[in-house]
Amino acid sequence: MKKRFFSILLSLCMVLMLFPATAFAEGNTGITISGPDVVCAQQNYYFTATAPEGVNLDKGFGFDTGGKGSGVDMTIDENGVGHGVMLTEWYDLNTNYFDLSVYGYTADQQFVSATKRVQVSQDHVYVDGVCGCGAIDGYIVEYIGSGDDPICMEVKTHGKNLTLRGETFTKDGYVQTGWVDKETGAVYALGDTYTEDADVTLNPVWDELITLSVPFTTTVKLGGEAVPGETTFKLAIVGANADDSQYADVTVSASVTTNGEGSYEGTMTLSGPSRQLNDMLCEGAFVQQVNEGKDGWTYDDTVWGLLLWQGIAEYSTDDAATEDTVLILPVICEEADDGMYYDLDWEANPVDRMTFTNTYTKSAQPAENNPNTGDSSNLTLWFALLAVSAAGVISTGVHSKRRRSS
Ligand SMILES: [Zn+2]
Repeated sequence: MKKRFFSILLSLCMVLMLFPATAFAEGNTGITISGPDVVCAQQNYYFTATAPEGVNLDKGFGFDTGGKGSGVDMTIDENGVGHGVMLTEWYDLNTNYFDLSVYGYTADQQFVSATKRVQVSQDHVYVDGVCGCGAIDGYIVEYIGSGDDPICMEVKTHGKNLTLRGETFTKDGYVQTGWVDKETGAVYALGDTYTEDADVTLNPVWDELITLSVPFTTTVKLGGEAVPGETTFKLAIVGANADDSQYADVTVSASVTTNGEGSYEGTMTLSGPSRQLNDMLCEGAFVQQVNEGKDGWTYDDTVWGLLLWQGIAEYSTDDAATEDTVLILPVICEEADDGMYYDLDWEANPVDRMTFTNTYTKSAQPAENNPNTGDSSNLTLWFALLAVSAAGVISTGVHSKRRRSS
C-alpha cells in the first residue's frame, strides 16, 4: 500500500516536471524578450517582453543568476508590452550572467514562457563612446581664457568629431578669432571641428582691433550757375583682391559734408581685427564714391587702391614709420564679363590722399520774386535756352570725368 502510494506520487511528480518542459518548448516560439545581450555591471538592465496575439503576458518575471534567483513584477503598458528592470544589486559577479524568464497563458490556459541570457560585464559597454551607466569613453576638451582653470570642459567621444566652441572670451581692444593648442601649436577656427582622439587644452587666439585711417579730399565744382547747399558724399570699398569673407568683420566709414564750392577733407576709417585688415589690404582694396544719384550732381567715379604697407622699419630708421601704413595708389580698371576688374597701378607713385571732384551742374532757377521779364512765350524761350546750356554742362562734366578715370 505504501509502495503504491509512492509510485503514484512519483508519477505525479514526473507529470508535473514534464508539464513545464513541454510548455517551455511552445513558449520559445511565442513571447519575445528584447534587450541588449551584455550589460555593464554598473547599469540596471532594462528589457521589454512582447507576447503574441492570444497570449496574456504575466506581469511577473523571474531571474536566475546561476547562484540566486527571484521573481519580480514588470509594468504592462496599454499595448500589453511588459517593461522590466533587473537591478544591478541582483547581479551575480561570480557567474556574470543572468537568465530572465517571462510567462504567459493562452486563451485555453496553456502556459507559455521565454528565457533570455544576459552577460554582466565588469567593464563598461560603450556604444558610440557612451556606456549605458553614463560612463563616457571620451577625451576632455578644456577651454582656458587666462590662468589655469578652464571656463568649461567638453567631452569628445572616441571616434566622433566635436564642434569646438565659438567666441567665448573677451579682452579689451581684442577680438577672439580662434583657438590654439599651445602644446602642439595647432590652431582652430571658432566653431571648428576637432577630430583628434586625445585630450586637449585650448586657449583663445586674440586678434588686436585696429583702425586704419586714409585721408581724402572731395572737391565741389560748379558746372552751372546754382550753388549747392550742404551735401554729404560717401566712399565705399568696391572690391579687394582678397575674398570678402576674409574681412567680414571690418567696418568702413567714410563721408564728408560739403557746402558749396571748394575742397573738403575727410578721413576713411577701416576698423576691425588686424588679421582681417591685413588680409583685406595686403594685395589691394579699392575705393570709390557712392553714387547716390543726388539731383544735379555729377559724381566722380575714380577708383583708388589701398595697400597695407608693413615692415617699413626694416628699410627705414624712422621709428614713426613702424606702424601700419596705408598706401594710396591709382587703379587700373578693366571691364570684365563678370563686372569691373580692378588692379593697383604699380607703376604709379603713391599719393598722399584720395581725391574726388564732384560737379554741381544745376543752373539757377528763376526766383519767385524775380520781376516778370515778359510774356509767357519769352519765358518758355528762356527755359529752353537754360535746358540747352545745362545739357552742355552735363556733357562736359561727363566727358572730363571719363578722361580723368581712364
Ligand atoms: Zn558602464
